[in-house]
Amino acid sequence: MKCTRRSFAKSTLAAGMATSLGGCLPADQQRNTVSVQEAGEGRILHLDGLSSPLKIASIELLKKGSDHFILTRSTDGATGISVTNTRANYLYPILERLVIPCFVGKDARNLEQLIDDVYLYQSNYKMTNLALWCPVAWVEFSILDMLGKAAGKPLAELFGGRLRSEIAIYAASGNRHTTGAQEIDVLKKHVAETGARAVKFKVGGRMSNNADSIPGRSEDLVKRVRRELGDAVAIYADANGSYDAAHAIALGRLMEDHGIDMFEEPCPFDWLEETRDVAEALSIPVAGGEQEPSLRRFRWMIENRGVDIVQPDLHYNGGFIRAARVARMAAAAGLTVVPHMSGGGTGYVEVIHFASFTPNAGPFHEYKGSVEKSGTWYDPPLRLTDGKINVPDRPGLGMTLDSGYLKDAQKIV
Ligand SMILES: [Mg+2]
Repeated sequence: MKCTRRSFAKSTLAAGMATSLGGCLPADQQRNTVSVQEAGEGRILHLDGLSSPLKIASIELLKKGSDHFILTRSTDGATGISVTNTRANYLYPILERLVIPCFVGKDARNLEQLIDDVYLYQSNYKMTNLALWCPVAWVEFSILDMLGKAAGKPLAELFGGRLRSEIAIYAASGNRHTTGAQEIDVLKKHVAETGARAVKFKVGGRMSNNADSIPGRSEDLVKRVRRELGDAVAIYADANGSYDAAHAIALGRLMEDHGIDMFEEPCPFDWLEETRDVAEALSIPVAGGEQEPSLRRFRWMIENRGVDIVQPDLHYNGGFIRAARVARMAAAAGLTVVPHMSGGGTGYVEVIHFASFTPNAGPFHEYKGSVEKSGTWYDPPLRLTDGKINVPDRPGLGMTLDSGYLKDAQKIV
């Protein structure tokens, strides 16, 4: 990659944080041998050991309590289970009519091809976005779980092997209704409760055409948060597309002056050029991509340095395989990946899995709570200790839940 003066400045910014989120990887981790496009192509999964077909017999959506599960069965009795995000409540007809039929009857070992096929199936490409890719992701997770169990391998081994056994999190606050002072207290509480060495807070009003949620809140927070939290914590700010480029750059300058380490989604998600302008202007890393469902546009963002840190969502962008393609493209350009985390279900676990096998994953990953509940679905249980969560190491996605657990679940699809 071209490690520009801008990216070099970002990677060496902020003493103590220099390795935390520089957009430019250290020289020894940069991969200059293939183009960004080439990096995103080719085989992803390592399925050695699976020498016989694993024909998909059925895929069901089941509800138990407030959770939705995808249960996949093969014709020879193998099973895989995944957890959806909360959008299953209203996306289930798409799952039922436009996604599941593309997978049933097929050999699960051809999963990569099936993910490509479902994009064209029934002209699904016409409705591409998270409404399509979330259901695809849930099915993909479930099939990966089945493949991992059949091969006796944890998920990371299907993606080339585990690089990390525990993942450091950043505690993300979604508040916009709090005052600056209240939000500082919230962030301090998150740090105290989780041991996290990184936090994220919201700025702007969310896709709000430069309006703040409370007038003056964002500037107030940006000016105070570093002073209040100290230098040992990485601090990220997320605008959810609140600003045009000029306003984002103005707030970004304030962030530069007050020790903010990352500026996420400064402009609306599809304002690719404007976001690039912000990234070009600022010395702190600009992050984005959580709403992006197109690998082609991810390629543009990466090749054109539209962002410094790439943030595919494992659900919204269609699963681990597509996110791995984004990560490989980012690596070819020397960029880090910090996936966005889908709320509800086991979104934080998917992120942890992904970070466990992705060489250019960032140092801290999004966490919005829930290890207390879903952590018990794993053995050993997932625990958030000293700001880190252990990566599940049983085969597949690592859950202990089996089809027996879902016996009394309500069948939705
Ligand atoms: Mg965000």
